[in-house]
Amino acid sequence: MTKDKKSTLPAEVFSDMEKQKLVATVQYDVLVERGRQNNKWGWQRHAHGDWLMILTEEVGEVAEAMQQAKGWGKDTDADNLYEELIHVAAVASAIAEQVLEEKEKEIFYKRGSRRNETRRSRRHDYYIGLQNRQKRKLF
Ligand SMILES: [Mg+2]
Repeated sequence: MTKDKKSTLPAEVFSDMEKQKLVATVQYDVLVERGRQNNKWGWQRHAHGDWLMILTEEVGEVAEAMQQAKGWGKDTDADNLYEELIHVAAVASAIAEQVLEEKEKEIFYKRGSRRNETRRSRRHDYYIGLQNRQKRKLF
């Protein structure tokens, strides 16, 4: 596969309008879903383990939608495979946004001993948890 000089995407993508349209449509739908998530939950920040639970739940819904198509599994609302894949991509995007922010702010990537990094992570997780509880007005 040859690469376009201005991009890391394969050059073939740019020579085929249909493929370009597919890429643009999916990316647009992910962006719209990110907006919907932000409207619903606010600007989310979670401990990485919590994000992994959210992402895995969405991946599970992809599997449920695939099962529905085969007539397998239990009854579920997750019956639109395309929509569920967009959810996975949007949650992964939200995690990537946080990771990038952490990297820029050096929240997780400061040099130090493993023990100090663990303490720093725990403090960060506590702080994020506190922020999320305050947002949801749980106390
Ligand atoms: Mg979903």
